[in-house]
Amino acid sequence: MNGPLEPRQNNPLVNARAQLEATVDLLGYDRSTYEHLATPRRELTVAVPLRRDDGSVELLTGHRVQHNFSRGPTKGGLRFSSDVTLDEVRALAMWMTWKCALVDLPYGGAKGGVRIDPRGYSTGEIERVARRYTSEIMPILGPATDIPAPDIGTDDRVMAWMMDTYSVNNGHTELGVVTGKPVALGGSLGRASATSRGVAHLALRAMELRELDPGSSTAAVQGFGKVGREAARFLWDEGVTVVAISDQFGAIYSRAGLDIPAVEEHVAVHGTVVDFADADRMSARDELLELAVDVLVPAAVEGVIHEGNAERIRASIIVEGANGPTTIAADAVLQAEGRLVVPDILANAGGVVVSYFEWVQANQAYWWRETEVRERMTERLDTAWSRVSALSQDRAVSLRAAANMLAVRTVVEAHQARGLYP
Ligand code: GLU
Repeated sequence: MNGPLEPRQNNPLVNARAQLEATVDLLGYDRSTYEHLATPRRELTVAVPLRRDDGSVELLTGHRVQHNFSRGPTKGGLRFSSDVTLDEVRALAMWMTWKCALVDLPYGGAKGGVRIDPRGYSTGEIERVARRYTSEIMPILGPATDIPAPDIGTDDRVMAWMMDTYSVNNGHTELGVVTGKPVALGGSLGRASATSRGVAHLALRAMELRELDPGSSTAAVQGFGKVGREAARFLWDEGVTVVAISDQFGAIYSRAGLDIPAVEEHVAVHGTVVDFADADRMSARDELLELAVDVLVPAAVEGVIHEGNAERIRASIIVEGANGPTTIAADAVLQAEGRLVVPDILANAGGVVVSYFEWVQANQAYWWRETEVRERMTERLDTAWSRVSALSQDRAVSLRAAANMLAVRTVVEAHQARGLYP
């Protein structure tokens, strides 16, 4: 399965494997350890026939990749996007393994994707896609096997349909089969904002390290979706001046700072940040990445910081809200320029941490208060932050290298302790 890569520009699997290779070298493991970890344990590609509202039938493709089982069932989001490819899902599944290990969740990583642009489909059509995809991957799904969650293009409604489909086919309600569900259906309090809260929290920790005062610092946030919107909001709450934000339609800028609650209201009405009254529109959306701000939060998709723009990035701190936003070549440039990059597997881990809490609560059928959820999440992120920053100092490596070292070592130790069967 560790075969040829798909011919795709900025293929995220190239990055994921290169990061792994560098980590394996730093840890002094051999080639077979690399081969083992570069290869997903299990992959399933399914056809997802969809009956459209007009009666026609469209055939979609879906994937579920389970990267590693050494530490427990696999965990990771499901993405609905026209950019989904098998290699992308493989890369994202691998990153989930490292993320779960870094914050000490008893999971390996997985990821799913259906190649569809959800914006072109009705709610009923999306429901049919979610249900058919779920029943196609049923053989490898389950609360002790593989537990999906939302990602780009999916939300709590999709999780509810997945949980229902799985439960109906099993003859009993199974709350622990997906996370990120509506609170009315066994979702955890605090899950919806967990990723963003974690991103903002780690941005503050990084600012502390760089001795930057939030009240006199500026930020730019790329992406105004599930992660970026509330990350901007939480940074704004802390007194950070958020000067620019973008979404898939464009970017807006205000030197004096954007009024984030007002932008949220604008988006609720117009569906985009574009044309927000108290801001200028930026000519090119990606110009946002190159602004001279203290903190840059890429919270959209993979590969946005690449060889072509890395040298023009001027932010002192980059907090990766998205998975894999920085290519390996760009990473080297950022490090040489002295930028502090809080890597994705740490920066956005708040989401899967609270997913884990949701699964624990569902398995115990006992629900926690939101303050408990938040406190326990912060504690885990702080522990991981301390370990990562200490190792990064000790070994004089980037935060990403340190995070990857801790995560990969945790997985390898579990694998070695279990031994190879037969
Ligand atoms: N999709 C999210 C991520 O990339 C959440 C995964 C989860 O909660 O399982 O981390």
